[in-house]
Amino acid sequence: MPHGTDARTPAGPPDPYPAFMTAPLPPFPMHVSVQEARTLLAALLPDRRTETLPLAQAAGRTLAGDLRALVSHPSATESALDGIAAREADTLGAAPHTPVRLHVTGESRAGVPFTGMVGAGECVRIYTGAPLPPGADAICPVEQLLDDGPDGVLLRRPASPGDVRHEGGDFRTGEVVMTAGLPLTAPRLALAAALGHPQVPVLAPLRVALLSTGDEVVPPGQPLTAGQVYDSNSVGLRAMLIEAGCEVIPLGHAPDSPEALQAAIDRAGGADVLLTSGGVSMGRYDFMRDLLIEQGRVSFWKVRMRPGGPAILGGWNGLPVFGLPGNPVSSLVVFHVIVRPALTGQPPQTLRLRAATPFRALPDKTAFWRASIQDGRVSDYGQQGSGILRSLSEAGALVIVPEGQPVAAGDDVDVILL
Ligand code: AMP
Ligand code: MG
Repeated sequence: MPHGTDARTPAGPPDPYPAFMTAPLPPFPMHVSVQEARTLLAALLPDRRTETLPLAQAAGRTLAGDLRALVSHPSATESALDGIAAREADTLGAAPHTPVRLHVTGESRAGVPFTGMVGAGECVRIYTGAPLPPGADAICPVEQLLDDGPDGVLLRRPASPGDVRHEGGDFRTGEVVMTAGLPLTAPRLALAAALGHPQVPVLAPLRVALLSTGDEVVPPGQPLTAGQVYDSNSVGLRAMLIEAGCEVIPLGHAPDSPEALQAAIDRAGGADVLLTSGGVSMGRYDFMRDLLIEQGRVSFWKVRMRPGGPAILGGWNGLPVFGLPGNPVSSLVVFHVIVRPALTGQPPQTLRLRAATPFRALPDKTAFWRASIQDGRVSDYGQQGSGILRSLSEAGALVIVPEGQPVAAGDDVDVILL
């Protein structure tokens, strides 16, 4: 990784950042890749605590241990249909014009099995989930049956062994069916219940403190004066943190002053990580950057990506601090492609789609261009400025264009759904 001296290259226009530029810059990685940024952030996070939760409270959590089946499913060989259970061999010639007659000797209901034996020429009425009686090996569905007297049925089709569900066909007692690290989606929670678990071990949520910075930033709900902007980052980032399963410690907003920022950071006690937005770029008043570089420990500054390049990662008295850029699109995209994957251990989900328009490449940065999807094809949405939040909310997708590899219309590209 290149080490950090680019910001002080002597060539070019006069240096506009004297305070920052005169202090010697300690060596730390600069211009890291998106993947390196994720890895460096994940490395600073504390080991995850675990807790045990009833299934009803575990939706969206991450499983913290393997789950074995406490029972087999199905627990007995059973019918998949409503119909009759019989011996397949007795029914082989059955057809609509040559039905086969069987003698009905009883009934097997879900929870109330038939206790006898099904003999030659015999059958029992059976219902979905009811145990298959001994002797029977096949099912004929009720739609293919005609009644023939009080204890007879005519089969218009042979009984089929394919409509029998075998004991343990889904899972067997003792089998490890779910492994640690799985996000607990609705199907997986249902499976945990089917395995017999009333509660599951899960990762405790990470506690993430959230701070927005900037003299011009004000919460919505009060009038704006010229040059001010409503605080959209706190809202967007908080929603993304909650969606990522984190506990949010809202620190509100701090103005652009080193003292105010330090005081705000000190209020993050108890958090596992602090996320800030704003104040990490190349401006004179970008004090988050200065605080971390001059008094903290920096893991990296700047990521080879657009939007979102100026992000910084450091530590402050043992607290990991990830400084997101202030531009609203930058902060949300950096969260999506770096912070969320590091916090959850899950990389962003991508789709491979055909490009309907070209997408330009940047020589030294991965580009995440806003794009819209129509008929399975992806088009440049335009309006790619880092401050244009509206296009991020309307576009619905980001196309990933690797460094120096432009996309032509007709190429396949990796796409992140927003
Ligand atoms: P900065 O990264 O502090 O240089 O800010 C870059 C741009 O993002 C500026 O136009 C800021 O006004 C804007 N910005 C910073 N923080 C926020 C925020 N919390 N909500 C909306 N816009 C912001
Ligand atoms: Mg600012």
